[in-house]
Amino acid sequence: DGGRVGLRVDITQQKEQQAALEVARKEAEAANRAKSAFLANMSHEIRTPMNGVVGMAELLCDTALTEEQRLFADTIRSSGEALLVIINDILDYSKIEAERLTLHPEPFDLERLIHEVAMLLQPRARERGLDLMIDFDLFLPTRFVGDAGRLRQVLTNLVGNAVKFTEKGYVLIRIVGIETEPQQQQLHISVEDSGIGIPADQLDLVFGEFNQVEAEANRKFEGTGLGLAITKSLIERMGGSVWVDSEVGKGSCFGFRLVLPVAEEQTTRQTSVSL
Ligand code: ADP
Repeated sequence: DGGRVGLRVDITQQKEQQAALEVARKEAEAANRAKSAFLANMSHEIRTPMNGVVGMAELLCDTALTEEQRLFADTIRSSGEALLVIINDILDYSKIEAERLTLHPEPFDLERLIHEVAMLLQPRARERGLDLMIDFDLFLPTRFVGDAGRLRQVLTNLVGNAVKFTEKGYVLIRIVGIETEPQQQQLHISVEDSGIGIPADQLDLVFGEFNQVEAEANRKFEGTGLGLAITKSLIERMGGSVWVDSEVGKGSCFGFRLVLPVAEEQTTRQTSVSL
């Protein structure tokens, strides 16, 4: 019966196509894993000698005989450090890609962590004449359980970007608690700035890897274009989600939602901290 043969040929073809697609998908995944492993190994191999260069340049700075020698050694140190930042970004990103990044949850003080990040970036904000402010929901518990190091990395990236892309005005870090349950807390953490903003058609792209808005004009801003891709992956690994809202010439607001277990042991809140 011709109809049935036709049908059988069709199904066989479909199966062959599916099998070919499956092979291609597996090959692409294997290639991607190989790329990530290569990047991770390379970054690791570069990082070790780079640490040596930076460390020795620091020693040279301290023991330099003349002002000129000190300046040379200091340039080696700061260039080395800049390179290490890039290498660490690539290492993190390739670990995330290869699904080799593990989180290390521990009890930590969220308010203190936010203040530490703000304090780290305060000199750069002051240099640019920006107000760096924190608005912390006073009804929140003080201690949570989470990967404090990775959260610090996320916040440093968001606040660092806000300072970098803001010429005048302010950067506001806001921490709001949404639902309070005895053991779990939903947090909304956002970083708002009065900076250059991002065009609407590029908003979806900024969390992608190696994406920089108007890359050419933006070259005056240093960066790898990996920070937000890492931020997004880290928050998603923690079970949260990221978002962004922006208007060109007015400013941007980057934020994330995250549910964190409340730590058993709580401390009393610091009532006022000056930056
Ligand atoms: P990098 O800052 O290293 O370029 P990111 O992934 O952190 O990489 O950011 C990607 C791009 O998103 C930046 O190059 C910039 O164009 C844009 N961007 C990020 N944060 C802001 C911000 N607060 N204001 C305006 N543009 C921003």
